[in-house]
Amino acid sequence: MSELIVENLNLSFGGIKAINDVSFTVEAGDIYAIIGPNGAGKSTIFNAISRIYTPDSGSIRYRGQELLERAAHQVVDLGIARTFQNIELFEKATVLENLLVGRSSKIRTNWISEFFFTRNVRKEERVHRRKTEEVLDLLNMQQYRYERVSDLAYGARKNVELARALCAEPEILLLDEPASGLNPEETTDMSFWLKDIKEELGVTIVMVEHDMSLVGRIADRCMALANGAVLAVGSVAEVQSDPHVQAAYLGQ
Ligand code: ADP
Ligand code: MG
Repeated sequence: MSELIVENLNLSFGGIKAINDVSFTVEAGDIYAIIGPNGAGKSTIFNAISRIYTPDSGSIRYRGQELLERAAHQVVDLGIARTFQNIELFEKATVLENLLVGRSSKIRTNWISEFFFTRNVRKEERVHRRKTEEVLDLLNMQQYRYERVSDLAYGARKNVELARALCAEPEILLLDEPASGLNPEETTDMSFWLKDIKEELGVTIVMVEHDMSLVGRIADRCMALANGAVLAVGSVAEVQSDPHVQAAYLGQ
């Protein structure tokens, strides 16, 4: 079964049709890239999937369940985590604290059980710490654990956002421009991490990305958008050589 099926999605802001009849299917275990010029509607698609925006019509099914019937926190509980185009972290908190926030969808104990069943809480805390450590190891971020986010360089903050999303133990990661603002070396590191996340953790990745060399290196499939509509879908090579896609990029 396909992991994520988006069908005939439409979403307008006032008179602007930000998403125009968009359909696409993401297979489990793939890295699926969404490309397109600025304003094409890429982030809006993520906002519709994560239920920040409500589309005018269409359907978004995840493993057979209609996401449009659910609230944003339920989408996270179903296993869909995301990062934002502009980093959204708790700047004054440490890396570790930000990652523990990423685990909030997994925290089961409430304050009453915390009071009466301290042993359960300790056990749960150990699980959260272990998961957080696994993510810090995977992204080679142990040295930053006690640093404040506001003290970190941009590339490291980008990694904290990715790490926080991973701490939710997602089945699908939605990454909005994971390599934007990164230098070539950091972009290469990011490509390895995304491959590890796919191959070692088995997480499906949908990413919006402008860096076509990164997309070419890691994406299994690709969709190009312009003005809210789908221009082409296929392998990265197929999409890149599509005349509609080339016209949209040249016309930018
Ligand atoms: P992309 O991520 O591909 O650069 P967006 O999805 O951010 O594009 O935006 C698509 C279109 O929708 C743009 O015309 C943008 O101005 C508009 N848009 C996005 N979010 C809003 C919003 N909250 N209110 C009004 N217009 C918006
Ligand atoms: Mg965007």
